[in-house]
Amino acid sequence: MLDTEPQDDNNNAYDIKQQQQNGKVPSTEGRDPAYFSYYAMLQHQQNMLQDTVRTSTFRSAILLNGPMCFANKLVLDVGAGSGILSYFAAQAGARKVYAVEASLMAQKMKKLIDASNPANPHILPKNTFLKNKIEVIQAKIEEPNLPIPKVDTIISEPIGVLLIHERMLESFLYARNTYLKPGGTLFPSTGSIHLAPFTDAALWSETMGKVRFWEQNSFYGIDLSTLYNDAWDEMFGMPVVGGFDPRTLLAPSSVGGFVVDFYHITMEELQDFTMPFNWLANYTGIIHGLAGWFDLHFAPPPNIQDGTAINMSTSPASERTHWQQVRFLLKEPLAVNAGQKIQGWMRCTVNEMRSYTIQAEILVGEGELSNPRTLHSFSKMDYNRRRGKWHLHEQTYNYNYYPQPDVAFRPEYNCLYESEQALDPMGVDLNNVLEENQFMFEETHS
Ligand code: SAH
Repeated sequence: MLDTEPQDDNNNAYDIKQQQQNGKVPSTEGRDPAYFSYYAMLQHQQNMLQDTVRTSTFRSAILLNGPMCFANKLVLDVGAGSGILSYFAAQAGARKVYAVEASLMAQKMKKLIDASNPANPHILPKNTFLKNKIEVIQAKIEEPNLPIPKVDTIISEPIGVLLIHERMLESFLYARNTYLKPGGTLFPSTGSIHLAPFTDAALWSETMGKVRFWEQNSFYGIDLSTLYNDAWDEMFGMPVVGGFDPRTLLAPSSVGGFVVDFYHITMEELQDFTMPFNWLANYTGIIHGLAGWFDLHFAPPPNIQDGTAINMSTSPASERTHWQQVRFLLKEPLAVNAGQKIQGWMRCTVNEMRSYTIQAEILVGEGELSNPRTLHSFSKMDYNRRRGKWHLHEQTYNYNYYPQPDVAFRPEYNCLYESEQALDPMGVDLNNVLEENQFMFEETHS
């Protein structure tokens, strides 16, 4: 059992409570200069363009739904960047695309588009299909009175690590609320967040190694150990972004994941939500933390017939994307036996760093889960329960994993042990499918 400082824990819970009582949502504006100068650089747009899983999925979604959602339609591209999604929309026959981009990348996009209609008649036009199709608007989508009519379709790639990092989904919802015609199309249409327990003794020990530096009592003659618990909180509060072997998961993520329906979710729901989870351990082993990733889905609304649904996954078993996966380490690992129930929740609350503060509880076997809304202390835990708190913007990277297909692989190589008996898959409730998620939203906002 960890002996954490209760005062710190109370302060942490107090931050979020205070923020709710004030009724103020942390603003993203303080981060805007750094955020938009990052996206003003071609190299960062290129990094996204070269993510072939990402770029080709958006292209398929747009072109395969061209006749229903793009041909002769008005389209809005929110955060157009290099303009790639606007160009796909033009290829799919859009009547007009409004390409809104807040960073200076808007000027690069305009330069590329203007080359389709050069002022100098001696210069050969490039990309003639773009001529008079795209209107570049250099502005934040939230600015009032932008020259944008109501549109048939909104396209955007507002996705960060674990779907939600960067808080750009709020801009996507703002655009939906302000500019989408009733019955219009939103691409992407839904995201689903997947969580699963993982084992990784090497990652845990490496992180603990950094913490132990602060255990020293004579570093150049100075006792650092007063800061040992702070170091423990900090190092384990940093989400680890990178790939990992899907065979280190002790249970599969819940079917369908935690669904974020971009057509229907409200801004408030997106700013503070709780994802329940309920798994059955496939193995006996040590849970070092929770792994997360997401899927994206593209589907026209039900009123548009004959659409083609497109899906994309960033799971550890899928082809790598620039988002990779994220892992949240537990300060103290948790033992589980094959066949045992693992349940808990992860609560995500927006913060001023264009990101989310994340809290979670995980419980193995019997016991009552705490209420994520009223939890004030992160200490005094039971032997089969752990809690954690992470800042999604304080990401650290781990690129040690290179997928190597290995047919002779066995779970025990990862210190995971199978049960002698077949497990009963009915022992677990699939309780975080869509309806339950909606319930969780309601509950957390009542
Ligand atoms: N659509 C491009 C770029 C995606 S990256 C592509 O798919 O490759 C997200 C882009 O949105 C960045 O260029 C960023 O500057 C821009 N952006 C983020 N928030 C915005 C906002 N509120 N208004 C306008 N642009 C925004």
